Amino acid sequence: DAGRPSPDAASGGARPHGGPVVRASRLVRRFGGRTVLDRLELSIAAGEFVALLGRSGSGKSTLLRAVAGLDHEVAGSGELRVPERVSLAFQDSRLLPWLRLLDNVVLGLKRPGAAARGRKALDEVGLAGRERAWPHELSGGEQQRAALARSLVREPELLLADEPFGALDALTRIRMHDLLRELYARHRPAVLLVTHDVDEAVELADRVLVLEDGRVARDVAVDLPAPRTPRDPRFQEYRELL
Ligand code: ADP
Ligand code: MG
Repeated sequence: DAGRPSPDAASGGARPHGGPVVRASRLVRRFGGRTVLDRLELSIAAGEFVALLGRSGSGKSTLLRAVAGLDHEVAGSGELRVPERVSLAFQDSRLLPWLRLLDNVVLGLKRPGAAARGRKALDEVGLAGRERAWPHELSGGEQQRAALARSLVREPELLLADEPFGALDALTRIRMHDLLRELYARHRPAVLLVTHDVDEAVELADRVLVLEDGRVARDVAVDLPAPRTPRDPRFQEYRELL
């Protein structure tokens, strides 16, 4: 039964993937006396879409920051190997308010060719023609589209996203899911998406991890055909597993 969830299949979902691009081993992070990451193990294959679930305060953002190389303390604790090109997206789009949209998207990119790539990326996320808009002129959903364009224009091998749709209304979130799926299919970066929404995780990811007590407590391969929708009764089996 191809649609049956497998609780410990760590090899990925229906699609084949390359070798690991992320390898983390024995990661430890303490804040004061509290151990937030406790000898954590994580491996993500090239092109694999992994969702990370966990209660608030379970350490999801801490892990993401570590994988992004933003946490020097955790780096010394174990082993961490990540690809060269990593992009990071947050709940808040973090567009710079004093830069127009295109300048935000291509910030830090090497010329020549940056502007053309930025335009193409904006076009891909449905923001063609908005190159000269200021961030405050965009809706929340449009700002997240721009943030995705900014992430993808760098052609990352790994896209890290920390609850990128958490602040959006339900309808906009559905559109963003469709967009992310489309962009992922076209660019195929490895993805580590933090979310607290089980349905979002099952809808988008090849594999869903649950962070608990500083470790990956559950590792569930999602084997559902496209198009996936939370109305599919098979979602219930995953909701129960996760
Ligand atoms: P999540 O993203 O899963 O909600 P976080 O990774 O943000 O959780 O936080 C995990 C735990 O680590 C929380 O208890 C939080 O208070 C603590 N923590 C995170 N960052 C810091 C920090 N810079 N200083 C102290 N405690 C922190
Ligand atoms: Mg968080």
